[in-house]
Amino acid sequence: MNSNQAVSERRILPQDPVTASTIEVLLEASERLSAAGRHLEGAASAEEALAIPGVVPVQQAHAREMLALHRLRLGDYQASVQNGLLALEFLTSTGDLLRQSRVHCTLALAYTDTGLTEQALSHAVPALEAARAGDSQLAEFWALTRASTVYGAMGDSVRGVDLGRQALALSGTLDDADASLAALNNLGDSCLEAARAQRENDCDPSPALQEGLALMREAVTMAHAQGHNFFETIALTNLVSILIELNEYDEARENAHRCKDLARANGFRKLEVNVDAQLAEVVRAEGNLDEATAMMDAQLTCPSIDEDPQLQIRLHQALYEMHKQRRRFDLALGHCEKMHALTLKMTTQTAGLQSRLLVNTLEVEQARHEAERSQLEAEMQRIRAEELDDQAHTDPLTNLPNRRALDRELPLMMDRARDLSQPLCAAMIDFDHFKRVNDEHGHAIGDQVLTTMAVMLRAVTRETDLAVRLGGEEFLLIFGNTEIDQAVPACERLLASVRDYAWDGVAVGLTCTVSAGLAALQPAERVSHWLERADMALYGAKHRGRDQIVTADD
Ligand code: GH3
Ligand code: MG
Ligand code: MG
Repeated sequence: MNSNQAVSERRILPQDPVTASTIEVLLEASERLSAAGRHLEGAASAEEALAIPGVVPVQQAHAREMLALHRLRLGDYQASVQNGLLALEFLTSTGDLLRQSRVHCTLALAYTDTGLTEQALSHAVPALEAARAGDSQLAEFWALTRASTVYGAMGDSVRGVDLGRQALALSGTLDDADASLAALNNLGDSCLEAARAQRENDCDPSPALQEGLALMREAVTMAHAQGHNFFETIALTNLVSILIELNEYDEARENAHRCKDLARANGFRKLEVNVDAQLAEVVRAEGNLDEATAMMDAQLTCPSIDEDPQLQIRLHQALYEMHKQRRRFDLALGHCEKMHALTLKMTTQTAGLQSRLLVNTLEVEQARHEAERSQLEAEMQRIRAEELDDQAHTDPLTNLPNRRALDRELPLMMDRARDLSQPLCAAMIDFDHFKRVNDEHGHAIGDQVLTTMAVMLRAVTRETDLAVRLGGEEFLLIFGNTEIDQAVPACERLLASVRDYAWDGVAVGLTCTVSAGLAALQPAERVSHWLERADMALYGAKHRGRDQIVTADD
């Protein structure tokens, strides 16, 4: 037994109920932990399910789907992508559109976060298509939201905002609090990005900022009312950023403090560090450069900042600009160098991660191509074998089934007839004086006569009959579910059609007739005996002068 057989046999074995329920419990736990944001434990549950011997493909795909999500949230993009692609592979083969859409969304985010926006888009689009094909508005909402993020990351903030608006509109029709909050937050963030892009291009950013402001205020209120602390903290962070852009410093500061309290109370460490940086930005924007510098310097010495190189870069950039503004060039230069070193390090790390992700992606794709190729090859071999089998069972001159086909088909017909208590009749048919046809008109004309006979035979046989060229100018017709007194007139018609055929058109002066011997199958009769009786009857027909039918004595 080769390994392939082992795998396929394992698949068809039913899973024992204890294993099945253990795996299901682990997968359900993984789902719940995901909703609760407990990704480390959620990933552990999914890994445990995956490691259980006897886990079946549908469960493997579910575990991988969960792992893709948990690993993404934990920042392990490589594992996220690898599991996502493998889950997708299975879900595509089973046609589960909603789960496909979910995994595509996860992959779109993982690729966006690693800066592989082309790859991200190649998942955001099918996420949307699958959601629509699967007729799920919730799935469509999430796909629109992810697509909006992808376009934003690609620098197409106009499309990002547009998709965000579509998602927000859709969230209004769904009774889903998470969706509503995510929609407001996402669109607010897209508006902020769009405003920044407009400012850079010397366009008026205020309409986008006002739209973002209204959305973020609504998001904060809604998250607060629902007691959703994480969303409230995020929404406050975004609100502060928009207020800074709008030069609304008092309100920015007030909300930043609220955000900081909330982040600290809930242990959202990264968000707390981030809001500190925002507070320093407010102080800087108000023109208090000394205080802003001191705040940012203090932040950079904080150990938890190490986990956020992007924030470090932002702080060094701000410090560089402030020192330069105050003509402290040596300090400015120090921050400039650190900023560049960090940027280079991040770029190198990102490039390494990107290339590993791309290699993983290619490997999974290659494995799929390989599987598709071997499937195609197997199919080709099957068709080829079928063709060879057909060839081996077909007479090349007349295209009628041959003696080998008879050996294969007749026992089946006899079994069926016996099971259904239906009668069978055999007609052995032979051309009269065929040697003369050849002698007088040539072998090629003889061949043409045989081909014409095949057409006539096909015309009289029904689905349940079998017409065979036994060899030479001899044919056998088996009538299914037919009594001998029904077979006789059918054969009479065949003889008449041979006799009356316009053979003159084939060769001038050509005439042809056939003789036939009929025998009905006796109960428990062996095939050889039955056909011998038909042969004897044919011999009788020849003896009696040809061009006639003789029925075997029962
Ligand atoms: P009878 O009426 O007694 O059957 O006489 P017959 O001449 O038909 O009988 P016989 O069996 O002696 O001759 C059959 C002839 O059929 C001999 C052979 O040359 C010819 N034949 C067999 N196979 C083919 C074929 O594939 N093509 C052609 N053209 N002739 C064939
Ligand atoms: Mg003959
Ligand atoms: Mg013959």
